[in-house]
Amino acid sequence: MTVSYICSECATHYPITPDLMVCPNCASQQTSEEPLRGVLEVSYENPSIDKEHWWLSTTRSWLFDMLPMPEEFFAPMPVGNTPLWEPRNLREELDLPNLFIKDDGANPTASFKDRASWLVSAFAKQHGVENIVLASTGNAGSSMAGIGAAAGQKITLFLPASAPVAKLIQGQQYGANLILVDGNYDKAFALAMEYCKRFGGMNRNTAYNPMTIEGKKTVSLEVTRQMGKAPDHVFVSCGDGCILSGVYKGFKDLYQFGLIDKVPTIWAVQSENSDTLTRAFNHPEGKFEAKPATTIADSISVDMPASGYHALRQLKEFGGRCITVADEDILKAQKKMSEKAGLFSEPAGATAFAGLLAARNEIGRDEQIVVLTTGHGLKDPKTAATGCPDLPAPIASLDELA
Ligand SMILES: *Cc1c(COP(=O)(O)O)cnc(C)c1O
Repeated sequence: MTVSYICSECATHYPITPDLMVCPNCASQQTSEEPLRGVLEVSYENPSIDKEHWWLSTTRSWLFDMLPMPEEFFAPMPVGNTPLWEPRNLREELDLPNLFIKDDGANPTASFKDRASWLVSAFAKQHGVENIVLASTGNAGSSMAGIGAAAGQKITLFLPASAPVAKLIQGQQYGANLILVDGNYDKAFALAMEYCKRFGGMNRNTAYNPMTIEGKKTVSLEVTRQMGKAPDHVFVSCGDGCILSGVYKGFKDLYQFGLIDKVPTIWAVQSENSDTLTRAFNHPEGKFEAKPATTIADSISVDMPASGYHALRQLKEFGGRCITVADEDILKAQKKMSEKAGLFSEPAGATAFAGLLAARNEIGRDEQIVVLTTGHGLKDPKTAATGCPDLPAPIASLDELA
């Protein structure tokens, strides 16, 4: 098996080195008002895999056989292997007996981002790079900080000052160098890029570092093993579109390795208040037009999706769907999942479930559906509180109860 990078735009191959992040040819046409050009994917040529072992193995070799670096470089942290829930009450209420929820809030730092950080950390370790730099809406930063702590790496985070306080504190707890940005996530992204140019270090900006998409693919591998086959539909919330690209990468690799016979229908779900990818999806020429994002789901609040071109190409190629939901519906979906399934997800995670509720009539009763919840509810208690009644007045005796 030969492992290299392949450009998602022009299909040129490159050797995997820590100095190369995007295809130099395509990136030379980059303007500031569009998604990243020349996003690189890891390509496996002539893959050979022991299929029986892949389905049945109880050690994690099934996973490392499909990743570009060996297990010894990975931080000693139990990333992934998150539970696949079978939410009985929601199955009955929606009349969807094959509904599953993949709970990625159960990762070590409580978000899906650990999948990407884990690979970036291993990549840096393999090449002797000790500093990792990134911009984040909050979760990628706290994730990289936690995994960097376990790996013994130095992490520099650029976060919007408006990020939920739990995510800022998390980064500080793990000992990262936290830099607050007077501006939004898109501004933090640009500053993190400039910082690396001036001071060095590996950049982990989402979609820019190819190992982010490659790490995020692991969720598709896990879901497929947990279900014994690929599901029919996967609902994914979408900001930069990097999770979406990673979910596709996983299913594409599984298909290429001969482990599944179809790529599922992927539903990209955005907030109406951060919908640049959806507008590009519906635009006749696929044009990305930034609009200031204002959604309450902070993790998917992005003006210009970094992985936009790459995500859009795959949605079109594999018959994916792109939908938006209102912020009120995100809060309602969050509360419903908490009350009916006992799964408390942050708003961006609940966005995927809000997408399923919106698309329910387009799904066949017996189809296999996976909703991906990407972050734990306690990541942002302030927003969750807006979906709940006011706290009751304290009592001193039971007589005060109505
Ligand atoms: C980052 C994130 C997303 C969106 O991922 P993108 O790759 O930006 O599309 C969704 N939910 C949570 C909880 C996240 O942290």
